[in-house]
Amino acid sequence: MKREHAVVVGGSMAGLLAARVLTAHFERVTLVERDRFPAEAVFRPGVPQARHLHVLWTRGREIVEVLFPGLEDTLRAAGAEELRVPADVLWLTSAGWRERFDVTRLLTFSRPLLDRAVRARLTGPPDGDRTRVDVLDGHRVTGLIPRGGDAAGVRLDGDGELHADLVVDATGRGSRAPSWLAELGHPAPLETRVDPLLGYASRYYAIPPGFDPGWKALYLQADPPATRRTGGLFPQEGGRWICSLSGAGRDHGPTEEKAFLEFAKGLRSPVLYEAIRDAEPLTPIVAFRRTANHRRHYERLPTWPRGFVVTGDAACAFNPIYGQGMSVAAVAALALDRCLRDPRPGFERRFQRGVARSAAGAWLVATGEDLRYRETEAAPVRLRTRVINAYVDEVVAAANVDRRVCEGLVRVLALMAAPTSLFTPGVLARVAAHRVRRPAPVPLPSRPC
Ligand SMILES: Cc1cc2nc3c(=O)[nH]c(=O)nc-3n(C[C@H](O)[C@H](O)[C@H](O)COP(=O)(O)OP(=O)(O)OC[C@H]3O[C@@H](n4cnc5c(N)ncnc54)[C@H](O)[C@@H]3O)c2cc1C
Repeated sequence: MKREHAVVVGGSMAGLLAARVLTAHFERVTLVERDRFPAEAVFRPGVPQARHLHVLWTRGREIVEVLFPGLEDTLRAAGAEELRVPADVLWLTSAGWRERFDVTRLLTFSRPLLDRAVRARLTGPPDGDRTRVDVLDGHRVTGLIPRGGDAAGVRLDGDGELHADLVVDATGRGSRAPSWLAELGHPAPLETRVDPLLGYASRYYAIPPGFDPGWKALYLQADPPATRRTGGLFPQEGGRWICSLSGAGRDHGPTEEKAFLEFAKGLRSPVLYEAIRDAEPLTPIVAFRRTANHRRHYERLPTWPRGFVVTGDAACAFNPIYGQGMSVAAVAALALDRCLRDPRPGFERRFQRGVARSAAGAWLVATGEDLRYRETEAAPVRLRTRVINAYVDEVVAAANVDRRVCEGLVRVLALMAAPTSLFTPGVLARVAAHRVRRPAPVPLPSRPC
């Protein structure tokens, strides 16, 4: 039997996916969003990061398609393009260029296109045993309605209230869940922060007519701690490129026209600069600086209210350069479904443990890399991290030339496998063999094909 009413606070990716899952468990689901949702695939203030490069890795792609069958067809029809990875991508890793194996597929599209497509499916006519989702946009949630130490719904700006059996906080990095919990008499969670002081700058360009250099996308990574700059150039619907430049250690991507191009020129290969130099800019350059890895350990709290859970960036947000946030939110949505199917009491605490597990691999990948920068603000780096990073360097070098190792590494990045899968005897042996055979490094070619 379905429970009565669930409220999801925040209508970005974590909230949309959670709401979809809840339609199978509640008679009524209400999605509260402080922005007005636009009818078109355009940017909105509540998701400022949507103006920067967003990649939906394989695991996220698969889950979104399971939750909304046929969504990929909708995205393709709207102009999203499939990329063979890394076959269609010139990928400069810290250890040099990656050979262009075909190990996974991504769809590339703008973030507003994805959000609109998911919103349309979620709020469209219900199918199967799904219930309807009511959208309350243009409303901000200001706190929880207390029932003893539990949550009985949400308070809205303008003194409104929505009573509910379950409230899901999906309000992103700015979540006020710690103070909402305090108002119910619960302690604040421990927080872990690893801040590489990274800043993005992004702009759209028109892809020049007839442009066909033998690649579709560029991903030029930094080589920390020696270099701190990363650049991505990916095709999007509408014949556009999105170009995102980022730099760690306060070497931020700049928003001024000339400096933006100079920054691109200063990447480890000039190939991105050469592509955008004469391309037509379609938008101003916009910046984003709120990029620290930030985790709230709700799973460790000694007490927890019934009727309330936290998901998505509100629980754990990553340095976005690794492209994990939406996929982790998708994995958490599946955990929500599993926990709601489990009839034992205490589903909320089980879910918070599930959220922590969903984020664990991505957290290791992101923070492990970020701790290589001298400027990163974090607790002192442990010997274990240094040893793992030294091994990961070898994995990256082997993955550049060994298809099997490349598959293993990409599966971890795409959240298809845990980071521990890189430590199996098979991978260790291949990595060791490549280390023995590795030739001396050669200078980077400026325009490989
Ligand atoms: C520069 C950048 C690039 C990124 N690139 C990638 C990428 O390539 N791949 C990837 O998977 N992820 C990427 N991410 C992460 C991704 O954007 C997030 O993980 C994803 O949007 C899921 O976040 P969320 O839904 O938890 O929160 P958010 O996206 O932050 O959304 C929170 C929502 O809650 C609403 N809200 C907030 N407070 C209230 C309130 N009180 N009442 C009502 N509504 C409220 C906001 O308006 C917003 O709609 C990137 C992030 C950044 C910053």
